Amino acid sequence: MQLRDIPRHSLTFGPSPIHPLPRLSEALGGEVEIWAKREDCNSGIAFGGNKVRKLEYLVADALAKGCDTLVSIGGIQSNHTRAVTGVARHLGLGCVTVQESWVDWPDMNYDKVGNIQLSRIMGGDIRIDAAGFDIGIRDSWKDALASVEAAGGTPYAIPAGASDHPLGGLGFANWAVELAAQEPEVDTFFDHVVVCTVTGSSHAGMIAGFALEDPDGQGSKRKIIGIDASATLDKTIAQVTRIATNTADTIDLGRDLRDDEITVVAGYEGPAYGIPDQQTVDAIHLTARTEGMLTDPVYEGKSMAGLIGMIRSGEIPAGSKVMYCHLGGQPCLPAYAGAPGLG
Ligand SMILES: *Cc1c(COP(=O)(O)O)cnc(C)c1O
Repeated sequence: MQLRDIPRHSLTFGPSPIHPLPRLSEALGGEVEIWAKREDCNSGIAFGGNKVRKLEYLVADALAKGCDTLVSIGGIQSNHTRAVTGVARHLGLGCVTVQESWVDWPDMNYDKVGNIQLSRIMGGDIRIDAAGFDIGIRDSWKDALASVEAAGGTPYAIPAGASDHPLGGLGFANWAVELAAQEPEVDTFFDHVVVCTVTGSSHAGMIAGFALEDPDGQGSKRKIIGIDASATLDKTIAQVTRIATNTADTIDLGRDLRDDEITVVAGYEGPAYGIPDQQTVDAIHLTARTEGMLTDPVYEGKSMAGLIGMIRSGEIPAGSKVMYCHLGGQPCLPAYAGAPGLG
């Protein structure tokens, strides 16, 4: 089916804003033009973010199937489960979220403030579980689904990050189409797009969406760069590849993706998922202090570190026009007030 014919339930304000980051560009030598497209302010639902955009397609399906409870999974400070809870409330649905100990972070308030606080305020049914980080399918999640059924409800299952789901890549396939439509308005073609990747469907959806611009597979003029923040690189590359391929099929790309359309960059993930290192904190500071644009230590600080590193190294060459996809995530910042440089 063509992307525009696939049912979508609008949860965002419309196209997310794009704008230049001139002082950040200048701080990095002034030879690369950096812009941002702001998923962190894409919706009025629970601070928005990339998960809300992905959920536009999943909830259209959930509503069509008559489901009454969204069920999902993430870490304690998951942006995703906060977004699922907000979207469920917005639609008048129930919500169960399994929240696991994905990150070994010692902040006293880690399990009280930030995203989990917001989910509690929204009345989410939160089930804390001791399991560690994994982007795959978990028993605790299956138990949560079974418990909704046992109570007479009809659950709709949403995997971690809304990624490993037949519709998971569509939100960001649509993002690619949306950006292409914004380019003429600002008279700029973005030859590089930089995005954080963990559960993979933001990056994968974009790969499929931008591939539509290159139907014959001759080679696009755009490079889509995923910066890994999972620190489980092989799993993330496998998941990005699988979701990009599946999404390309779903939107009738009509050709195979080439290997060079899938680029996941390592080196900016820090010691583990959810743990910032010095270059993460430096990137958060530089962006905040040149532009007043806030990024978080789990995701966007790492992708921003990647953008900065690749400009400094020349991997993103002088003369490039880069679109940094800001996926959201600032609500976790209070949980990291104990990190050197962040509190
Ligand atoms: C989930 C998330 C990501 C990672 O996106 P995936 O689609 O899971 O790869 C990046 N940034 C923020 C703020 C997120 O919440």
